[in-house]
Amino acid sequence: MKTEHYQVLDEVARATVAELTAFWKSDPGREMIHRIRSVLADLPECYSTYVGISFQVFDDERERNLTLRETEAMFVNGRKDLFIDKDPDLCSFVVEGSAATVPAGFCPRCWGPWGQESQPAGCSRCGCTVGEDAEVSGS
Ligand SMILES: [Zn+2]
Repeated sequence: MKTEHYQVLDEVARATVAELTAFWKSDPGREMIHRIRSVLADLPECYSTYVGISFQVFDDERERNLTLRETEAMFVNGRKDLFIDKDPDLCSFVVEGSAATVPAGFCPRCWGPWGQESQPAGCSRCGCTVGEDAEVSGS
């Protein structure tokens, strides 16, 4: 996926996450939290509630998806409400002559898991490595 495509989808993902974040702070959102908390209070402590959005792009040919952004809200009896936004860094590469932009942690060629701990950084799925198959791009 080229940087300009990634940036547009990332803007939509960011706006989607912002809407859910704003919802939890609104009157209807606070009412929803109150209703969830009321039900949890009547249930055994082992129950909890999770609400999340995962904004992903799926590629049929790769049979893989990129997770652009995620937001989660967890409600657990006896604990403070937990809100988590996952906002991965943008990573731009040139792979076999083509620009490829992916969130951190994804291979720019096959979208598999991208290991930063290996030297050079690379993909355990397709074998793509920085310096051999991919170059880090400035944009
Ligand atoms: Zn790969």
